[in-house]
Amino acid sequence: AHVAVEADVAVIGAGPTGLFAVFECGMLRMKCVVIDTLEAIGGQCAALYPEKPIYDIPAHPAIAGGELIERLEAQAAPFAPVYLLGRRVEALQEKDGGLFELRTSKNEIVRVRAVILAAGAGAFGPNRPPLNDLAAFEATGAVRYMVARREEFRNKRVVIAGGGDSAVDWALSLKDIAARVTVVHRRPKFRAAPESVAQMEAAAGRGEIELAIPYQLHGLRGGQGELDHVVLATLKGEEKAVPADHLLAFFGLSMELGPIAEWGLGLERSHVTVEPATCATNIPGVHAIGDIATYPGKLKLILQGFSEAAMAAHAIHPRIFPGEALHFEYSTSKGVPLG
Ligand code: FAD
Repeated sequence: AHVAVEADVAVIGAGPTGLFAVFECGMLRMKCVVIDTLEAIGGQCAALYPEKPIYDIPAHPAIAGGELIERLEAQAAPFAPVYLLGRRVEALQEKDGGLFELRTSKNEIVRVRAVILAAGAGAFGPNRPPLNDLAAFEATGAVRYMVARREEFRNKRVVIAGGGDSAVDWALSLKDIAARVTVVHRRPKFRAAPESVAQMEAAAGRGEIELAIPYQLHGLRGGQGELDHVVLATLKGEEKAVPADHLLAFFGLSMELGPIAEWGLGLERSHVTVEPATCATNIPGVHAIGDIATYPGKLKLILQGFSEAAMAAHAIHPRIFPGEALHFEYSTSKGVPLG
């Protein structure tokens, strides 16, 4: 492991409250590194409802989840945060001299003097199908939950499971290069853009895609992590085996607290307990904000997370600048560095 980044504050989670914490820290001259499991910033707003309007952000009668994130990113940008995306924070260790070291899933070390935990309900990960020996097939890449390089599927036999946009869009994209594409869905209706569903059905009519409906994933056949068949079953238990080199499962994302539960933080039903005036956890220097934080009267709303970001930043300031008095000023007199 090598030290990838040193900063004043590590913000774990690039959801709305983590992004606003970067701004609040920046106003107090504290540099942030932001880490998120997802490849893109925005937490739930970007991953779960980018186009849904939010009605309770002050001064925005309505704003889409994705647009809120774009604006928060722009608001934080003058403070030049370092974004480490596509990696999960696995470990948090306290070191001598008031330092913390975070280790990411890419085996990097991030060294900071304070931590703002803005981890929502935990790290996002794919919903996995309940199949035997899944891990062995995941390890070789035979079973996947996303497509990084389309070319990897050239001349391969691919089974795509799911009924949403990802399943339909990848079926349409891969049919041109894969040897065979089978789409498995447990009901006749797809929850995807109607135009794409129509294209997929037309392609199935021409024999370019095979539709296995209504079927569910039932098993994986092969050896040493190499797949040769995906076994499907109807609800009545009728089985069929489809020849396959790859299974692509698109069952959406879910969040799990994961490693955070092992860091010695005070927890109450999968939330981190904090002192409400400062969002301090039981570990001095570690503050929790947003959906992951709980205290009497906590509301899981973005606007409350924004306020918590401000309180955490102010509480952290003396750790970063010991002995320096913090004269409270309004943002207008601070002069946000532009560009
Ligand atoms: P999140 O947005 O959950 O982001 C947390 C991030 O932390 C995630 O990206 C996750 O991958 C990352 N993370 C977690 N653990 C780790 C780790 N170990 N390493 C690296 N990264 C990690 N709220 C409102 O105020 N108004 C609304 O109208 C509204 N509508 C909603 C509609 C829907 C459909 C949903 C699902 C939620 C809605 N909410 C609404 C709730 C709102 O989205 C959440 O309160 C908000 O997203 C919480 O922000 P956050 O920054 O605390 O965490």
